[in-house]
Amino acid sequence: MTAKATPANMTHAPEWLAALPPLRGKLMTDLAMGDICWFRVGGPADVVFMPADTDDLAAFLKALPAHVPLAVLGAGSNVLVRDGGLRGAVIRLGAAFGEITQTDETALTAGAAALDVRVARAAADASIAGLAFYRGIPGAIGGAVAMNAGAYGGETCDVLVEVEWLDRDGKKHVSAADALNLSYRHNGHDGFKVYTAARLKGARGDKAKILAEMEAISDKREDSQPVKARTGGSTFKNPDGADPTGLKAWKLIDAAGCRGLRVGDAQVSEQHCNFLINHGVATASDLETLGETVRQRVQETSGVELQWEIKRMGEARA
Ligand SMILES: Cc1cc2nc3c(=O)[nH]c(=O)nc-3n(C[C@H](O)[C@H](O)[C@H](O)COP(=O)(O)OP(=O)(O)OC[C@H]3O[C@@H](n4cnc5c(N)ncnc54)[C@H](O)[C@@H]3O)c2cc1C
Repeated sequence: MTAKATPANMTHAPEWLAALPPLRGKLMTDLAMGDICWFRVGGPADVVFMPADTDDLAAFLKALPAHVPLAVLGAGSNVLVRDGGLRGAVIRLGAAFGEITQTDETALTAGAAALDVRVARAAADASIAGLAFYRGIPGAIGGAVAMNAGAYGGETCDVLVEVEWLDRDGKKHVSAADALNLSYRHNGHDGFKVYTAARLKGARGDKAKILAEMEAISDKREDSQPVKARTGGSTFKNPDGADPTGLKAWKLIDAAGCRGLRVGDAQVSEQHCNFLINHGVATASDLETLGETVRQRVQETSGVELQWEIKRMGEARA
């Protein structure tokens, strides 16, 4: 990451930056999204803002001209940023939003930048059961709320009580989980929002049992998924959602003969064929072309139209 910058000392600063008030967080221009996203691809964002705290974020949002495109990034584990990068501003929450606090016997409040794995560990330490599924999800809690992330029978909607968030004008809100209309890998909360914290509730549990469950999840992942690769996790949603007996995207992809399929340095994982992998020098365009080829072949062989779970963002390279 670059050092703290102000509009005056930045190169390539868009003209709207001059209209912003003094901010305490970091403003960065031309940061390559490939440096911060799991796929390790993606062109630069015009401006990335890492707020110092919620008030700093509110001041930024309040002053940001309405015409400037705006996006939010968490840990970047579920996004494919295109090679031309992102125009406008990107908000990225850092360590200032990473705190986890136990609020009662069975509940935690986690800052949106707290990694899921840290939340799982904090819950285990407090003997709170029901959050162990976060052990295997490599994102942050803001991304988990935005995606209704889940695994091994647990989903964010099962444990989310309420969220703190800011709207496009920098106004602060607290909403009950119901208002987000969460369903399988879907968030139905309308309009632009930046989640800043989430209150999560489990049940009283036994620490040793929770730790054993987390260990089992970790082992299962290592056996079944390319967890150390440059990937974005599951590329497509399962057509029947969370139904464990329903149609699985990976089975359809396998039946369409796409396991191991390549476009340049992008490949459908041999180990888990709903994962795409960047072997090193793949571009976002290679990965997206590969994904679209898979969708087309699945449509031809099974008649099912797969939906992207990974969020594709930004512009193709000109
Ligand atoms: C190896 C691997 C395994 C995975 N396994 C799973 C799994 O088992 N289950 C699962 O559900 N997912 C899985 N994923 C996908 C991913 O980890 C989750 O979707 C995760 O919740 C994304 O969080 P993130 O912080 O990385 O969000 P990002 O990828 O940065 O963003 C994802 C979306 O959330 C939005 N967003 C992020 N933060 C905020 C915020 N603070 N406010 C508003 N919007 C925000 C972004 O705008 C974007 O639309 C896996 C990914 C990988 C790489």
